Amino acid sequence: MSHSPNDKRKPHGKFATKLIHFGAAIDEATGASSVPLYQASTFHQADLEVSPEYDYTRSGNPTRQALEDYITVLEGGTRGFAFASGMAAISSAFMLLSQGDHVIVTEDVYGGTYRLLTTIMNRMGVESTFVDMTDMAQVRAALRSNTRAVFLETPSNPTLKITDIAEVAAFAKEHDLLTMLDNTFMTPYHQRPIELGIDIVLHSATKFLGGHSDVLAGLAVVANDSLGRRMKQIQNGLGNVLGIQDSWLLIRGMKTLKARMEVSEKSAQRLAQWLSEQPDIEVVYYPGLPNHPRREIHEKQSLGYGAVVSFDVGSGEKAKKMLSKVRIPLVAVSLGAVESILSYPAMMSHAAMPKEVRLQRGITDGLVRYSVGLEDIEDIIEDLEQALRG
Ligand SMILES: *Cc1c(COP(=O)(O)O)cnc(C)c1O
Repeated sequence: MSHSPNDKRKPHGKFATKLIHFGAAIDEATGASSVPLYQASTFHQADLEVSPEYDYTRSGNPTRQALEDYITVLEGGTRGFAFASGMAAISSAFMLLSQGDHVIVTEDVYGGTYRLLTTIMNRMGVESTFVDMTDMAQVRAALRSNTRAVFLETPSNPTLKITDIAEVAAFAKEHDLLTMLDNTFMTPYHQRPIELGIDIVLHSATKFLGGHSDVLAGLAVVANDSLGRRMKQIQNGLGNVLGIQDSWLLIRGMKTLKARMEVSEKSAQRLAQWLSEQPDIEVVYYPGLPNHPRREIHEKQSLGYGAVVSFDVGSGEKAKKMLSKVRIPLVAVSLGAVESILSYPAMMSHAAMPKEVRLQRGITDGLVRYSVGLEDIEDIIEDLEQALRG
């Protein structure tokens, strides 16, 4: 099944080397410097007696396979899957559950995951309990006889709360629960949850992995062969696979993951520091700040702090004024791109959440989320300063 051309070129070395030499980096047939676009829906079967490696693109396609093998190498899992979006990857993972099952979920989980669980999975008879996963007592208290899985997201969105991955994974093992983790914010460059005992890692590859705000995609990586077989059946059965062109574009974007993350993260650190020195900014959330809650847990399980900084300007009025005045960032939903993206959770990602619930989770009317891109950090800060004060 593997698409790796030959043993000599098997992925090896440190992360940055694997990002470039991931196995299918050189085309086996021609030596071409990029994975070929196998823009085909079906494959000729020359010998009906032999079961072909590829027969139909929903079930398998060499370009998509190269991407799936690529993310498997990066996450250190056994098998990867590419989906039409992050939500397609997440919903497919939830299809491992059955009617009557119960799942424990991080309370400040991505809005789309919350919506999936509370408006769709509930109708299929899968129940969920949302808990503050920074508090193990709450996780333990949520356990029921029909609990089958735990879903984690760390750092969470938008207040970047830190869950102890190994601690939750150990609890799950003890009770025979499947663990799934949304690793979108950290990417495998910074955080490799499978090494910490997680069963399934999920990504909105639309964000940092793709990195250019031009592809919608999702990825999943599993930790063992039996989960791999079950996920394959689900992916083929649901048919929510990533298209060929988008698979190619995603591979192209992923090659520069480290270079992009390094620049963005350095700038995010500077921005967070600058914001925390401004008297009119009420709170700054960034795991790299010395006073960020549970920073030491984050440092135990991750190699960096990422490029997302959230901060509270004090009121909805001030936030809206600032959003109308910024000149550098895209004012939009999404994150993790070459260009900076400024989001306003109260009116964008969390608009559907009842106001009391939103406030209880620290998502105030003055909270904005800055995903730092590759622009010059001096310009980013100057721009924010004029937008806040000008
Ligand atoms: C964007 C996002 C998703 C959903 O991904 P799509 O590609 O938009 O479907 C899931 N989780 C997190 C953390 C995200 O930021």
